[in-house]
Amino acid sequence: MTPNDRAEALAPEQVADLLERLAAARSALAAWPLGERALALGRVADLWLGDEARLAAAAEAIAAETGYAPPMVAELLEATLRQWRAKPLRELIDVALADPHSIATPPDLVVAVLAQNTPGLAIAPTFTALALGSAVLLKCSHGEARFAPLLVRSLREVDATLGGAAAARLWRGGDALEAEVFAAASRVVVYGPDAAIERARVRAGERVIACGPRVSAAVVASLPNVDALARALARDVAFLDQRGCLSPQVVLVSSTIDCDRLARALAEALERLEREWPRRSLSLVASGAFRRAVDEAEARVLAGEARALHGGVGRPWAVVVEEQEDLLPSPLDRFVRLHPFRGPDGLSRALAPLRGRLECIGLAADPGERAALAEACRAAGASRICGIGAMQDPPADWHAGARRPVSEYLSWSTEEGARTDAETASAKGAKGERFLRFVRFVAQTSATPRGIEVVRARGSWVEAADGRRYLDLLAGIGVAAIGHAHPRVAAAVAAQATRFTHVMVYGEDVLAPQVDLAERLASLLPPSLQTTYFTNSGAEAIEGALKLVRKATGRARVVAFEGAYHGDTTGALALGGNPFYREPYRPLVEPVEHLPWDDAAALDRIDASTAAVFVEPVQAEGGVRVPSPEFLPRLRRRCSEVGALLVFDEVVTGLGRTGRWFGFEHWPAAMPDVLVLAKPLGGGLPLGAFVSSHEILRVLADDPPLGHVTTFGGNPVACAAGLASLGVLAEEDLPARAARVGERFRAGIARLAGRGRLVAVRGIGLLLGLEFDEAEATAAFVAACRERGVLLGWTLHHDRVVRLAPPLTIAEDEIELALAVFAEALG
Ligand code: PLP
Repeated sequence: MTPNDRAEALAPEQVADLLERLAAARSALAAWPLGERALALGRVADLWLGDEARLAAAAEAIAAETGYAPPMVAELLEATLRQWRAKPLRELIDVALADPHSIATPPDLVVAVLAQNTPGLAIAPTFTALALGSAVLLKCSHGEARFAPLLVRSLREVDATLGGAAAARLWRGGDALEAEVFAAASRVVVYGPDAAIERARVRAGERVIACGPRVSAAVVASLPNVDALARALARDVAFLDQRGCLSPQVVLVSSTIDCDRLARALAEALERLEREWPRRSLSLVASGAFRRAVDEAEARVLAGEARALHGGVGRPWAVVVEEQEDLLPSPLDRFVRLHPFRGPDGLSRALAPLRGRLECIGLAADPGERAALAEACRAAGASRICGIGAMQDPPADWHAGARRPVSEYLSWSTEEGARTDAETASAKGAKGERFLRFVRFVAQTSATPRGIEVVRARGSWVEAADGRRYLDLLAGIGVAAIGHAHPRVAAAVAAQATRFTHVMVYGEDVLAPQVDLAERLASLLPPSLQTTYFTNSGAEAIEGALKLVRKATGRARVVAFEGAYHGDTTGALALGGNPFYREPYRPLVEPVEHLPWDDAAALDRIDASTAAVFVEPVQAEGGVRVPSPEFLPRLRRRCSEVGALLVFDEVVTGLGRTGRWFGFEHWPAAMPDVLVLAKPLGGGLPLGAFVSSHEILRVLADDPPLGHVTTFGGNPVACAAGLASLGVLAEEDLPARAARVGERFRAGIARLAGRGRLVAVRGIGLLLGLEFDEAEATAAFVAACRERGVLLGWTLHHDRVVRLAPPLTIAEDEIELALAVFAEALG
């Protein structure tokens, strides 16, 4: 290291020159194809990885600033370079080549503000920004900042254009200088304490991508080998501490594990690590905070509030075993708190205070428990979940308040359960391969399956393996009323799954989630609809209702309507109002007569031999057809006259979609005898139900007894999810919201009528139908929307109508986005 390698402080004129030079270099860089830029950056990483002396010098430089052991720093640097060479750059190319619009506006200039302890992290924004074709200024605020210039020099060695677009400067800045630099930058990536981030925010506002002192945690719920786990944990603690941006860990330990034993093993591992990677010194501020935390822990142990303290006094590491579940703040450095937790609920509670600051969670759990715990971690806001021992990989999603899409590329996500390594690798090459396996091993339902490879769905959005995000205006065909993967549902599922997932389900034993859900439904329904029979799906509920009405009336004949859809099992299909779908499967359940839809005169054909009439209050698959106001009341009257039961199929219209809790509420004079529900009922899990009076439903219980049973219907996990979902629907008053927001959506679409063969829009609440003048225009519209990232589908029995059934939680700006896409797709 020569004095020339050191960064210098700059005068204002020099700053202006520097910015000018960077702007010119940026244009040259942007002229390169992205693939070549990324490959050149790969060569920079190769240069470092192939040159031990360079790596050692860099580690020495960082160690000099941070007080850490050079071997540890070298290991971290190497891991970071390897990671950046391997995946993110290649992935960036894949994303950009697959969809050139995904990187809409690369920043002109990215300023990375580096605090003490963070110089190695400069690799992340530097590589990403250069790959995007942006210039980079590394602004080093502390110490001698020798690493950043080394990095810049190596860029120049590989390629003059690449090196010209990056600069590293020690900052002894002044406000004017700072203001000038921030004004020139389109992105400011800040590594440092909250105060530094805040200062940057004042100057650069939303352009700031913050990487502040956020919190990491580890969750230990299984312990195959306590020593190996403790070693991995200790390395994570040391690495994360070295990075300076993350607090050291809180370790949450399942109550099934001997917390004290783990604490001892961790203490030993940290002691050993201290010998391998000794810390040279602690800064005054850090050592003061560390000492205070140790003193405080000691006092708590003496007072019986904490169980044990290992290390601490005279050592630069400490392990405290806590008694209580709520978390205490942890000072920087190798100060670890072990807390007990009980099940996913306990974990969620324990993590709650970290919400908003929680960054990375290392998770050790058995496969069975893993999903539930990972969900609890995610619900607490962890942006990255990985195995213990892998937390030192490049941090992900450090940005706060960052905007898509470019901000995404300034830090890479490897969140477990979202985009796993395998899934991100499949972004390009492997996608085709999985699709082929899908075609081969999974039965398709059409000759041209849509084939989106879904990796995640949240709220109104579905994310695919190729990195694309889709606004889901179908909500999994009307299921995700409260949005996909709602955290309340996830938590309820996790909690119930740890209690029991399945026992003998139906009607014999008392299962709390079933009882609670049935009672909750009853509270929303009139006195004649108070008893529920749970099923697994809508079609199965229709089948059950079909048996019920026959047994209750002693009659066989059933009436349904043309254009109706009630499901695809043979009984439900027999009721379906489209011969095209029925004919190939005959003979079906008989006798069934189909009457024309919304034709009051035809209702006379309902006679005293009729057991029941099945009707959707609004035909969904039939083309979103709302009947005229008198039709359903007339139907009710006719059923009562001849003693037929009236069954409302509210699989689609139930639970808020039409702007009221149930569709029948729009026609108070048309109260059904039996109500069929499904789709949103399970909050995303399979659950259906038919609801009637106690008297009517009692006929299923005898002659013969057990004459209608189901192994899985009313599964407790699905009921728990349904209960959570009903809670959200009620608390957020989503039925009323559906009415309000649906009206706005409808008015927006109505303004587009006349364009691109769109004839009209109709519907009720958030069940809307767009009518086109011919089937081809409908298909073209659906395809054009999909290309633009909006998912919708046409209706089964009406190929000129596109149906919308978005989550009832759909945001107003998502509706605006959908309208803009519709306008574009209509041309
Ligand atoms: N009833 C109606 C009105 C439906 O729209 C559907 C499905 O779309 C069903 C019944 C059948 O429900 P499932 O697909 O859960 O069997």
